[in-house]
Parts: sequence; structure tokens; C-alpha cells
Amino acid sequence: MIKKIEHIGIAVENPEKSNEIFAKLFGKTSYKTELVESEGVKTYFYKIGESKIELLEATKEDSPIKKFINKKGQGMHHLALHVEDIHSELARLTNLGFEAIGDIKQGADNKLICFLHPKSTGGVLIELCQEQDPV
Ligand code: ZN
Repeated sequence: MIKKIEHIGIAVENPEKSNEIFAKLFGKTSYKTELVESEGVKTYFYKIGESKIELLEATKEDSPIKKFINKKGQGMHHLALHVEDIHSELARLTNLGFEAIGDIKQGADNKLICFLHPKSTGGVLIELCQEQDPV
């Protein structure tokens, strides 16, 4: 079951510049940064009330964020949905015709994640995420 919006991901070209902009906008700096080596992404997390915003910086040329920015420019990248059980939720959604991009994998912020292809979701890249027990 989908519980809530977990966060919104924003692809940024220049993290210094974007962090300055969003810190001004939100009135606070990011509370956490994390490098996800396997994805070629560095993330900067902001929290506004119950909601989280994740800025995404490409750390290598073949990073999906780099490809996204080259194609569409920086900006809104994905909508992340919090699910209780990512395996059953992904099975439910693929049964309904949604298309997963790759397998369930380890994402930032101690979560299991999987993306749904925007061509199956009306143009929106959707990330399913399941909280893992703290390590
Ligand atoms: Zn995300």
C-alpha cells in the first residue's frame, strides 16, 4: 500500500548554487548529504514539516541524473512514494501494467527503492521506497 509522498527529487546542475537557492527558499540548510556511489548521485536532503526534498547531483558522466539534465535540463526529477512492502507493491503495480526500471535496490537514506518508468505513469518518474530497519 502507498502511504504518502516520501520526497520529491530535484536534479541540479550546480549543487552550490542550488543549495543556496533552496536554503533561502526553505529558510534552512540541508540536514543531510549522502553519496550513492552505485547510482553516481550525491543527494542533499531538506525537510519542510512532514515533507522532504532531495536535491540530486550527478557525480559521474553516466549518472542517470547527468543523462536527465542533458536531455531535459535541471528541475523536478521524480516523485517518491512511501510503501510498506516494496516487493508486494511492485508486484501489484507491474501486474497493472506499470513498468519497473531495473530491480529493487539500495537507495539513499537507508531505503529500498525501485523506479517506475515515466512512459507507464503518464510522464512522471516514480520512485517507490521502503524504509529499512536502521543498521
Ligand atoms: Zn528519491
